[in-house]
Amino acid sequence: MRQIIRKRGFTLVELLVVVLILGALSAIALPRVVASADTAKEKACQSNIDIINTQAELYNAMTDGYPKAIDTLTKDTDYFPDGAPVCAFGGKYSLNSSCRAVCSHSGSSADVKPKDTKTTKTPPAAKPYQ
Ligand SMILES: [Zn+2]
Repeated sequence: MRQIIRKRGFTLVELLVVVLILGALSAIALPRVVASADTAKEKACQSNIDIINTQAELYNAMTDGYPKAIDTLTKDTDYFPDGAPVCAFGGKYSLNSSCRAVCSHSGSSADVKPKDTKTTKTPPAAKPYQ
């Protein structure tokens, strides 16, 4: 007696169909993944700019003047205890003429301008406790 043993497997056509389907799915999904990664990096950079601007406002409140250079803020551990923020695109942050942070990768900055750029301020009068 002779037994016929059939090996189970896939034919070449079945494998080609699977490869074509996977290729079509990746062609649809890959551009979306890349676009969302760029959007996330852009938002991270904008968030860093907002943080630097917030710390510049804090510096202004503490010293009655905005910092002249961004290193004044980023190298001070009182303002950035974990170190200077890093742009996800590799850009460098700097302060423009109105003391707002900008990134070299896009030149973007926050739209809000500082309320008062005077270097001499009088602190508000303290209210007595009631
Ligand atoms: Zn950037």
